[in-house]
Amino acid sequence: MSVIVDLKKCNGCKNKETPLCVKNCPGDLMAIDPENQKAYICKEEDCWDCMVCVKLCPCSAIATKLPYQLALYKATLVPKVYEDKIKWTCTDIDGNKEEFEIKTLEI
Ligand code: SF4
Ligand code: SF4
Repeated sequence: MSVIVDLKKCNGCKNKETPLCVKNCPGDLMAIDPENQKAYICKEEDCWDCMVCVKLCPCSAIATKLPYQLALYKATLVPKVYEDKIKWTCTDIDGNKEEFEIKTLEI
């Protein structure tokens, strides 16, 4: 799998020196396109779907692409992290959305 960046939503972390997705990808796979100051993934084949970039993006601009065995192109899965839960939004190839929430562990 890999991630996909919504160029309409990405604001390049407002031109911060190191945008969150670039700074935190453990594989150094995210970069900023100097042409438009938007994020992109350099090597899709090296992404192991840890979803760090997806969870950290303040603009919800990054989604996880689902593998073809589960869904066709354009289907995505996006987690949004809250203090006590993670809300997952699954979007199918027709744009239909399904949301589900999972409470996080109390430590
Ligand atoms: S964290 Fe989100 S808003 Fe910031 S550069 Fe990456 S994709 Fe764009
Ligand atoms: S999902 Fe993980 S490995 Fe893949 S680009 Fe995002 S932070 Fe990097």
